[in-house]
Amino acid sequence: MYDLEREAREELGALEAGGLRRSLRALASACGPDVEVGGRRVLHLSSNNYLGLATHPELRAAARDALDAWGCGAGASRLITGHTDLHAEVERRLAAWKGTEAALLFPSGYQANIGAIGALVRAGDHIYSDALNHASIIDGCRLSRAAVHAYPHRDLGALEAALRAAPPAGRRLIVTDSVFSMDGDRAPLAALADLAARHRAVLMVDEAHAAGVLGPRGAGLAEECGLTERIHVHVGTLGKALGSAGAYVAGSRALIDLIVNRARSFIFTTALPPPIVAAAGAAIDLVVREPERRRRVLALAERLRRGLRDLGLDARGETHIVPVLIGDNHAALRMADALLDHGVLAHPIRPPSVPPGTARLRLTPMATHTDDDIERALAAFAAAARLAGVSR
Ligand code: PMP
Repeated sequence: MYDLEREAREELGALEAGGLRRSLRALASACGPDVEVGGRRVLHLSSNNYLGLATHPELRAAARDALDAWGCGAGASRLITGHTDLHAEVERRLAAWKGTEAALLFPSGYQANIGAIGALVRAGDHIYSDALNHASIIDGCRLSRAAVHAYPHRDLGALEAALRAAPPAGRRLIVTDSVFSMDGDRAPLAALADLAARHRAVLMVDEAHAAGVLGPRGAGLAEECGLTERIHVHVGTLGKALGSAGAYVAGSRALIDLIVNRARSFIFTTALPPPIVAAAGAAIDLVVREPERRRRVLALAERLRRGLRDLGLDARGETHIVPVLIGDNHAALRMADALLDHGVLAHPIRPPSVPPGTARLRLTPMATHTDDDIERALAAFAAAARLAGVSR
């Protein structure tokens, strides 16, 4: 019998030696501002539940009502019999929120990105992708079989040079995160829209981390910059600030109809469960109605970032995402362990989620954290940094 077990153990040993082995850690309570881990309550600074909506009573009630009315599962893929009035209604609300003609639910952001990219480009086409785009965009590029031109992070000069160098044949797609997940910085959307127009390219923007947090109605960075109509393809997720699960693609009616026909990760998968869809619908209402939540999470992140810098730590980002650069994988693990000892859950992010040599703690406050929580986190960081030897 083939000795897969031995090979797996060897491979895991190599990951361990490089500080790259990952393992699952079960939380013993819901995703709130603090959480139970290993029998203790600790401050939770490592979720994407930015607005604290995952446990909100209105989302719970919407999910419960949908559970009673529709049951647990949709029972089929959307194009077979898994599409319901509930899916259709939430898609209408999504489109109205995003300011687009139409929107389409996907079971996850990963599937939305690979599906949308695969529906739009194929062999003979060209994709221009920011080097720090999310893995689901990278995988979508690979699966599409189009030629992929990864340009250095936010480097408009390099992007323009690549666009100029491309042969005239084939479709061109520029794709970017709007807020970068592991860096917390923003894509230069206006300049990207200009380049896309000048070079006859399609522009696709993944608002996974901006939806719910940026923009006057929380619709994302495109809304904040007044660029909604200059972007062809809007992607966003419903499992982060919106507190539910799943994702959407929004844009023109023709785009959505094409994606329904062409996106394999939409066609060949079961529809989102009704309770999840209903919770997402309730979240959209809350996001629009309670702008205070996004102001709050952005202010808490800024306070955290300034306090960490005062401690001599390399805290970056310009949004609600606060990466603390450590560099070495083992040092990041030591720092995370020391923080947990001091009552703070701050997950260490290592390659391949980030480039080699840039391991970090990615801190993300929630709108439901208190000012005192942030001060407690800073005190824990001061102690942990000394312990792990990572202060500058
Ligand atoms: N896009 C970005 C930028 C992300 O950060 C993520 C998830 N971390 C996704 C897409 C995937 O979303 P989902 O978790 O819904 O698959």
